[in-house]
Amino acid sequence: MNEDVSQVTTTLPCPDWCVLPAGHGFYTLTDEGFLFRCHEGQDRSAPNVAIALVADETALSDQGPVVTVEAPTVFVSTDDIIAGNQRFTGPTLRMVAAALLDAADEWDRITGTSA
Ligand SMILES: [Zn+2]
Repeated sequence: MNEDVSQVTTTLPCPDWCVLPAGHGFYTLTDEGFLFRCHEGQDRSAPNVAIALVADETALSDQGPVVTVEAPTVFVSTDDIIAGNQRFTGPTLRMVAAALLDAADEWDRITGTSA
């Protein structure tokens, strides 16, 4: 990614699980010069842990054609950008575990995978 294209809106469709507004924009360019945006599923974040389904998409222009669509994956990140890790109490860790299981269930449903 190397250039800010400052939210180029589009009429290209989102996957049905994407919760961003229809036509949400491409916001940067890839090194190859394609427009780039990321589809996002329901925010399943737990205390200090960001969790959501995501899938990147690239296109030749705001009207397409789409060049690549990434298979959905679950984005997981802690808020602690310095140490890159977190310490949890039992109750908080159970909240994180439940949120991760919810995200895994959503991924299974979207991809048609049965656990
Ligand atoms: Zn989307």
